[in-house]
Amino acid sequence: MCATDRPRPRPLLVVADAGARLVRRGLVAPGDAVRWEGARVVVFRLGPVVCELPAACVDAPSRAPYLPRDSQPARAHPVVHPGVRRCGPRMTLALHNTLTRRVEPFQPLAPPRVTLYTCGPTVWNYAHLGNFRTFLFEDLLRRYLEASGYDVFHIMNLTDVDDRTIKAARAAGTTLRQHTEPFVRAFFEDRDYLRLRPAHAHPRATESVAAMITLVRRLLDSGVAYQGDDGSVYFAIDRFPGYGRLSRLDRREIKVGARVASDEYAKDDPRDFALWKKAGPDDEAVGAAWDAPFGRGRPGWHLECSAMSLREIGTRFGVQTLDIHAGGVDLIFPHHEDEIAQSEAATGRPFARWWLHGEFLNVRGTKMSKRFGNFLAARDLREQGVDAAAVRLLFWQTHYRKPLDFTDAALAAAGEGVKRLGEFRARLSGEAGEGGTLKASLTVEGKREGRLAELAAEFEAAFRAALDDDLNAPQACAALFQLVHAGNRALDAGAGGARAALAALDRAMAVLDVLPTPRAPEPDMARWIEAQVAARERARKSKDFKEADRIRAALRARGVELEDTPTGTKWRVV
Ligand SMILES: [Zn+2]
Repeated sequence: MCATDRPRPRPLLVVADAGARLVRRGLVAPGDAVRWEGARVVVFRLGPVVCELPAACVDAPSRAPYLPRDSQPARAHPVVHPGVRRCGPRMTLALHNTLTRRVEPFQPLAPPRVTLYTCGPTVWNYAHLGNFRTFLFEDLLRRYLEASGYDVFHIMNLTDVDDRTIKAARAAGTTLRQHTEPFVRAFFEDRDYLRLRPAHAHPRATESVAAMITLVRRLLDSGVAYQGDDGSVYFAIDRFPGYGRLSRLDRREIKVGARVASDEYAKDDPRDFALWKKAGPDDEAVGAAWDAPFGRGRPGWHLECSAMSLREIGTRFGVQTLDIHAGGVDLIFPHHEDEIAQSEAATGRPFARWWLHGEFLNVRGTKMSKRFGNFLAARDLREQGVDAAAVRLLFWQTHYRKPLDFTDAALAAAGEGVKRLGEFRARLSGEAGEGGTLKASLTVEGKREGRLAELAAEFEAAFRAALDDDLNAPQACAALFQLVHAGNRALDAGAGGARAALAALDRAMAVLDVLPTPRAPEPDMARWIEAQVAARERARKSKDFKEADRIRAALRARGVELEDTPTGTKWRVV
């Protein structure tokens, strides 16, 4: 059989009908996609493969349309099917918990669901690259949880009212809303540029004030909060015995009754902090004041995150404990310490099971800040034409709990790495698409053959072991480039198994997402490519596969990668 005639995998079906037999057996859940591949059935959960089953074990699911994520019913616990790899999350992930200062096996409250809250940007200005280092580590966390079979619900707030936003709006002579709106849009543009998966919920502080007022009332009612003689409402830290647990404050440092009104204050000066600040002239001038039973005012920054996270998980899942709360190390004190105090004093339950914190980004050896003149915004890189994949790879090459130095040389090296990956994928794709089936085949047991398949299996084991170990991305990247190195040599030697290697690479890319951004070619070049693709299609139709392969090779030589899909051939420049 000619390579180009190989049977294609049966089309993807997405399970929507809860009555489908697959679902009843607990093998797949609504929203999962199922594809028949010879003797196997491969199950995907919102992208990544979550399990593989012998085809004989399952019946065809219904062809009902895709069920939107938000309307999916709660999932049952995963069922272990005899003789096959377990469906659902793999329980081998361990994460460093700031609460215990230890790496602990990760166990969410109600698997496979994971509730993840990450402190979002304060939209008083553009988010800088240091902020994005934190957001990227959180993206890696989320993507790896999803790739491991967890059903993650990710909440990232937008802080659009706090001391800094009010000060900036006042200085600009505008309202809070007018000042913050462009920075909200800019944040989403930067997020998309850096390929961060959008959160499932992006609550805004100014749209969540009712939940904040309710939380302050609960804290006043329970006696841990009090109204100061300045009209603001404060949290009394000496009335919450667990205060200081996350940041390991020495309890003797706590000064009973001493208060602090500002959102940010020094670590060595723990004081009663403001939950609700009485409105002043600046607040009124920018439209940052709301009526409340305890006086007109505005929320403190720490209160905002507690109120928004508790509301989201309470209304959606009926729980008061997050599985994971993450942020930068600079948020441990006072922000996260205060979040714990407010939330736990109100609910009587643990606020978050895991606390994860990412380290700083240094630029030229110093923590990035405007003061040191080494401030870099994500959009600066975009405007300089830097491929986001290079930024991502550069960040993955340092563990999230270690400081990272951002230099032009390191960025250029990461860019080279990204290019190598793109070239390797193009080679694999070429082999798997046209000549691959001659060298790699599926046996009746579904076992993949060929040196490349062996390398892919070794790579996936190493990749998972690295990320299971507290998201050791540097080690996962080392395994990836080992695959590129050994895989290129195997390809040079004409080895088989390209399809398996390509699939493994794509699964890893669903987590790291570091393939080069496709470049748009010049119009003349695009016309030439289109003509070549059409000529190849004609050759294939007339069964002139030698000519079709020649055209493909000519395109590849110019960096054009082809992908044959049921709706036609797609191309991209790599
Ligand atoms: Zn926060």
